[in-house]
Amino acid sequence: MRDQRDKMRERYHPEEIEAKWQRYWEEKNLFQAMKDQTKKKYYLLEMYPYPSGAIHMGHMRNYSIGDVVARYRMMKGYNVLHPMGWDAFGMPAENAAIERGVHPAKWTYENIDIMRGQLKRMGFSYDWDREIATCDPEYYKWEQLFFLRMFERGLAYKDRSVVNWCPSCQTVLANEQVEGGLCWRCESEVTEKELDQWFLKITDYAEELLEYCDKLPGWPERVLQMQRNWIGKSEGAEIRFPLENSKDAITVFTTRQDTVFGATFMTLAPEHPLTLKLSKGKPQEEEIREFVERVKRASISGRTAEDTEKEGVFTGAYCLNPMTGGRMPIFSANFVLMEYGTGAVMAVPAHDQRDFEFAKRYGLPIIVVIQPPDNPLSEETMTQAYVDEGTVVKSGQFNGMDSVAARAAIVHYLEENGLGGRSVNYRIRDWGISRQRYWGAPIPIIYCDRCGMQPVPEEDLPVVLPHDVEFTGKGGSPLAECREFVETQCPKCGGDARRETDTMDTFVESSWYFDRFASPHYDEGPLDKEHVDYWMPVDQYIGGIEHAILHLLYSRFFARVLRELGLVKDKEPFTRLLTQGMVIKDGAKMSKARGNVVDPEYLVSKYGADTARMFCLFASPPEKDLDWNDQGVEGSFRFLNRVWRLVYENHHWLKETDPYAGTSPLDQETKTLRQKVHKTIKKVGEDIERFHFNTAISAIMELVNTLYQFKPTENGDAAEGLVFREAIEAVTLLLSPFVPHIAEELWEALGKEESIIKTPWPDYDREAIVEEDVLVVIQVNGKVRDRVTVPFSMGEEEIKGVALEREKIRRLLHDKAIQRIILVPKKLINIVCA
Ligand SMILES: [Zn+2]
Ligand SMILES: [Zn+2]
Repeated sequence: MRDQRDKMRERYHPEEIEAKWQRYWEEKNLFQAMKDQTKKKYYLLEMYPYPSGAIHMGHMRNYSIGDVVARYRMMKGYNVLHPMGWDAFGMPAENAAIERGVHPAKWTYENIDIMRGQLKRMGFSYDWDREIATCDPEYYKWEQLFFLRMFERGLAYKDRSVVNWCPSCQTVLANEQVEGGLCWRCESEVTEKELDQWFLKITDYAEELLEYCDKLPGWPERVLQMQRNWIGKSEGAEIRFPLENSKDAITVFTTRQDTVFGATFMTLAPEHPLTLKLSKGKPQEEEIREFVERVKRASISGRTAEDTEKEGVFTGAYCLNPMTGGRMPIFSANFVLMEYGTGAVMAVPAHDQRDFEFAKRYGLPIIVVIQPPDNPLSEETMTQAYVDEGTVVKSGQFNGMDSVAARAAIVHYLEENGLGGRSVNYRIRDWGISRQRYWGAPIPIIYCDRCGMQPVPEEDLPVVLPHDVEFTGKGGSPLAECREFVETQCPKCGGDARRETDTMDTFVESSWYFDRFASPHYDEGPLDKEHVDYWMPVDQYIGGIEHAILHLLYSRFFARVLRELGLVKDKEPFTRLLTQGMVIKDGAKMSKARGNVVDPEYLVSKYGADTARMFCLFASPPEKDLDWNDQGVEGSFRFLNRVWRLVYENHHWLKETDPYAGTSPLDQETKTLRQKVHKTIKKVGEDIERFHFNTAISAIMELVNTLYQFKPTENGDAAEGLVFREAIEAVTLLLSPFVPHIAEELWEALGKEESIIKTPWPDYDREAIVEEDVLVVIQVNGKVRDRVTVPFSMGEEEIKGVALEREKIRRLLHDKAIQRIILVPKKLINIVCA
């Protein structure tokens, strides 16, 4: 009776159906987002990729997670914006130019084409009409405009500073791009360099960025904590230490002013301006100069690492402890950084481990001024610093106070006596955005010998990257060598002038791309207010934990600046954030270097996109690392085959059947099946909202198993046939956000004409999931003593508990010892006692 078509379709061929549905979605423009005030908007965004040339498993996982949420929200009736673009500037393109002679633009756009094709083959629901590439002048033009506006407001400024420098990449690196003293990209040893750099004044917003960490309930606490630490607010005191025989003083910042009486020497960062000044003309001058040079050659992170030897050189000068009048030798020390506090640290060796090691090495005095509650310390026997709080001693009028009280009293004393006062310090520094590279957005500044630094007039934007430059990999930026670019006219006097040749950090592009997606082709300004106000903020942002600090912090900073410029309305760009874990194989993160990479393309060509997506979603919860295993992929593929067969084996009668309408009476088995269907609908919806995709999928798997055991007569008229049909529809709908191609195909096979994405997400029937109660008889030593109704699904232990708590039973048992309890499920419980 089965028709020929069904027989042929009994096998699942992903390669046929996936291309078909991808074409269908594209032709029908199903994912095109339009502003629609009648619907609730939902802006879902995954962190956009760098166009390296191929989608890797990390992308595959990130975008599969996002796609479930997007499709689920579409089916729930939201107006969903789900865009995709390219973080297209950056060093690899330039390296390709140096190594292979391919122009960075060509390399980048070719990679984009390849990767766009890959993403399309995975069936992600992107609105491709909104695609942006940040290397497009139509994009970075606006970034240059933001720069000019920030420059006018003093939020962009130029300053000489010490930077991490990779001699091989010939570029400045951010602190977090230095890993164990090595360049994150090429693993060369990183050095320090002094350069004039452009900075964005994120420190102006430090307090607010910190405060709002408490106002982001949709973010993982772990990420918020990382941001708080990065901002690094500490409250303490500034204390001035007068220089001996001078009117000048060294100012330090400390959070432990309760230990000031124990400060026995002073340490300065080698870059501190006083270092060379104080040693000038002293016998130590030459030694100091050499030391400073040597320290500067090391990287900042290398200098401050815990196991780095603490070393220093005496400057030959002294300052005075303002509390004790004690003479303190001044050292230049490698572990003191100019970037933190004031670049000078009062050394309290008894109560700071680095100072302790330094004092031991150079034979400097150690004075205990904080005593722990038990086991008093002595300078002679201590083997390490005591860094905790305690009772203040050897501190004059403050003796006997605890650390907390002493800190307040000492700040007060400093203020009263003009020696310093309360102070707040932040660890966060201004954002250095200068890169001495070609493949980035040019900084729109012109230098004129007569007029000085001049912003490029707005109407001259964009400052376009010149195409014809030479990539030698040697020396500085290729832009600096390009005369046609460098040589220009001063916008003020019209005379000969030079362009800035630094380009912007690519994190600048990624700090506002999400705003641009709201009106990606708008050309009258960076953002079309009407659209950006409708779509922003991003309701759900998804990306790797590696971006937990900088990208998110810079984006939060940019949102504030753009808000002040009247371009956006919100201070916080991302309402909810999900940070997904890494993809791991053989115990390590997948990487080319380790040779443990699995190519998603291979998965897609062997098993189909649906299997690849399902594996990523089923193998582990999104926030955890995903451990790769081949069996998992096979398992996902087998499951999809099972679903396919379930439909086609029953297709010849199922297609003529309607889903159960809730009227005809059901026998117990069918009723139980229907209950399972609706429980599954409820669970999958709830699980998707919590990102528990793995448990959602396993609930659908269980339902499919139940359906295999349930053998309806091949009769669409009987109630069991109707319920079976209802169940099959539910399975298809529930699977569709995870494995959309097979879901569309089966949906069509069920006789549906509209795309499954246009079909509302199923509601569960509250009545169907209400459990029936069962009556349980309670016996004591075989005699019926009581009866109790309990829910059908109540477990054995719970039923025993309920029985033992019954008033009648408690009275009967009060002087007896229970020997055992016999339970006949859903019927009877017999308590045997002596
Ligand atoms: Zn490097
Ligand atoms: Zn001029």
